[in-house]
Amino acid sequence: MLILPNPVAIGYTATPGSSTENTLVLDNLTIVLVNPSHPGNIGSAARAMKTMGISKLCLVAPDEFPSAMATALASGADDILACATVVTTLAEAIADCEFVVGTSARVRGISLPLTDPRGCASTLIKESSQGATALIFGREDRGLTNEELAQCHMQVHVPSHPDFSSLNLAAAVQVLCYELRMASLQQAGEDTTLPKAREQPLATVDDMERYFTHLYETLQVIGFLDHSSHEKIMAKLRKLYSRIRPDRVELAILRGILSETQRCLACKKD
Ligand code: SAH
Repeated sequence: MLILPNPVAIGYTATPGSSTENTLVLDNLTIVLVNPSHPGNIGSAARAMKTMGISKLCLVAPDEFPSAMATALASGADDILACATVVTTLAEAIADCEFVVGTSARVRGISLPLTDPRGCASTLIKESSQGATALIFGREDRGLTNEELAQCHMQVHVPSHPDFSSLNLAAAVQVLCYELRMASLQQAGEDTTLPKAREQPLATVDDMERYFTHLYETLQVIGFLDHSSHEKIMAKLRKLYSRIRPDRVELAILRGILSETQRCLACKKD
């Protein structure tokens, strides 16, 4: 049986957001809703987040926001809506993140590590103690595209009934945020296994995207892509780097190698 830590002993109260609330590890986490079509779901998601002590919300190209319906369904979590950032692409939403998890109502054939909400929460708590993270939710009608999921380091699936696997968007936010809260409470009370601080910050999603553009250009210049499917090779390379997760210094070295390769080729041509 899981014994919950004593709330008083670990310094939080039943009121999320109060001064004694211990949510620091979740302050680095952003909940991202991609292209939500129903403003009610935005409000319900904000309410779900606030009940679990999570406050950063980012909306990617919402169909309707701000909206009276969103505010009504937020039911007091208006502060989360007021502070929500609105961007036009997923890439913008996660540019500064070091670790990104995508949610999926169906287990896709896509080659990303797959986890359940509990595993996701435990990983996100650890990652969020080190840098900016994001948890991405998809559209009500068709979820996240495979290209969007490919920008994540991990996918999480709520193990719902296989014949009826799709939760309402805000319900999915609630399940994930609940597990995050449980993991953060447990960690505050009894887990002392936080990893050692990293020597260097990890490369962000934006750094990696610029690297992939540079890599692609270089592979084209050296003729590596002439006889193979560009998309397949690049997808494999993305998977490889997503496993390795280079830090910023390592990435600078890799970019240096690419620049030098291009410089050498240019010299040969002259
Ligand atoms: N018809 C879509 C489901 C969209 S549900 C599809 O088949 O992909 C809207 C969003 O809620 C999903 O994109 C995902 O973010 C979340 N969601 C719904 N059910 C989920 C589940 N079982 N596991 C993880 N996320 C889920």
